[in-house]
Amino acid sequence: MKLTKEIKIGNTYIGGTHPIAVQSMTNTKTADKEATLNQIKSLASAGCDIVRFTVNDIEAAEAIPYYANNVNIPLVADIHFDYKLALAAAERGISKIRINPGNIGDKENIRKVATVCREKNIPIRIGINGGSAEKSVLEKYGGPTAEALAESAINNARMLEQFDFNNIVLSVKSSNVKTMVDAARLLSQMCDYPLHIGVTETGDVRRGSIKSAIGIGSLLLDGIGNTVRVSLTEDPVLEVAAARDILFCCGIGGGVNIVSCPTCGRTRSNLIGLVAELEEKTRNIKSNKRITVALMGCAVNGPGEARHADIGVACGDKEGLLFRKGEIIKKIPEELIVPTLIQEIKGLLNIDA
Ligand code: SF4
Repeated sequence: MKLTKEIKIGNTYIGGTHPIAVQSMTNTKTADKEATLNQIKSLASAGCDIVRFTVNDIEAAEAIPYYANNVNIPLVADIHFDYKLALAAAERGISKIRINPGNIGDKENIRKVATVCREKNIPIRIGINGGSAEKSVLEKYGGPTAEALAESAINNARMLEQFDFNNIVLSVKSSNVKTMVDAARLLSQMCDYPLHIGVTETGDVRRGSIKSAIGIGSLLLDGIGNTVRVSLTEDPVLEVAAARDILFCCGIGGGVNIVSCPTCGRTRSNLIGLVAELEEKTRNIKSNKRITVALMGCAVNGPGEARHADIGVACGDKEGLLFRKGEIIKKIPEELIVPTLIQEIKGLLNIDA
């Protein structure tokens, strides 16, 4: 993982050697205290590390102390157009501010935001999106190319640095997966600020999750990215689930990694049902340790192909062969396959039954 500057956001850190933080954004009206607090809590329970909400009017800013007093998770104010709302959020206990300097107005306004944030040790994320990079940069590159996004982010970081402010997180997002990945790779070479990564405006859960997995996953595998946000046109709790799955599939974090064969003409069991049940029962198991559990459709290829698995079952006709690291241990009836694997998993992860 690329070593970046460390940034403190409320009671959490990103960058440096800190774990990659998952974040999401509420879609309730920020001034609606009950709805927004409930959603922040749901996001936190789903594994969200940082929650952002829009601060689009003064009522939204005035609700910040209520949230800050009722949850123990860093809160980020998303500000567009009105720098005074950034100042209002900073005065009311926000943990971080996200601005797009391109729509905040003249430099003097940005200087005022930087000054207050410096005094209060509040980091600022400069969030550059395809549609909102500066005109001069867009003209130079003929549109929102990866180079344009990265250059715009760096220009804005340099402006904050001129105001003696370097408590900065950067993001360059696009709805075009390749543009976003290329832009973040460029930006990562140009500075050592932590990067917030994500594909924007992705669409529904199915394609949106895949676009996000390709974009975020490509960068994570390169060691780039300190905080991730999956953006879906859906309940944001699903964004957190998708983000957690992307991290897990990139080899980050502990838990149960299930490998299973695609089934074929040799399959004699309800392997699809067994895998779905095992996924469902193990998805939320939290552990620092990662183990691999195999569910294979037959004994011909099963134990051999899944030799690397810590534990597994090769299914036959109404029964299965339990194996450990490729060595067959015993035969078990089909109805005991999932309960037996769960018991084995708990043993491997030292979880009390
Ligand atoms: S493990 Fe067996 S059942 Fe599964 S795909 Fe391979 S040959 Fe087919």
